[in-house]
Amino acid sequence: MIDVGPVVIMGSKQSHWKKRETMPKVEIEIERCKGCALCVDACPEHVLEIGKGINLSGYQHVVVVNPDACTGCCRCAEMCPDVAIAVWR
Ligand code: SF4
Ligand code: SF4
Repeated sequence: MIDVGPVVIMGSKQSHWKKRETMPKVEIEIERCKGCALCVDACPEHVLEIGKGINLSGYQHVVVVNPDACTGCCRCAEMCPDVAIAVWR
């Protein structure tokens, strides 16, 4: 018999691993965004980009381009000087 190592049963009492029930979600309040791209650079998963759209203040604002890759780490929200990002997890 081949030894395949320990078996992790997701969500059972036999493991400390718990299956995630909801995916994290990042939301941009575009009217607060100044398009500085600090959040774009901070995101390790390349979820955000500066888009082509312009907000009422005349800034090209950030957009979510790869939502499924978001891990909910909150680096983007912590980096934003204008509190334009909310992360739900
Ligand atoms: S929460 Fe983390 S992974 Fe998600 S967009 Fe922000 S920096 Fe990227
Ligand atoms: S850090 Fe904030 S202000 Fe700068 S681009 Fe991102 S959301 Fe906009």
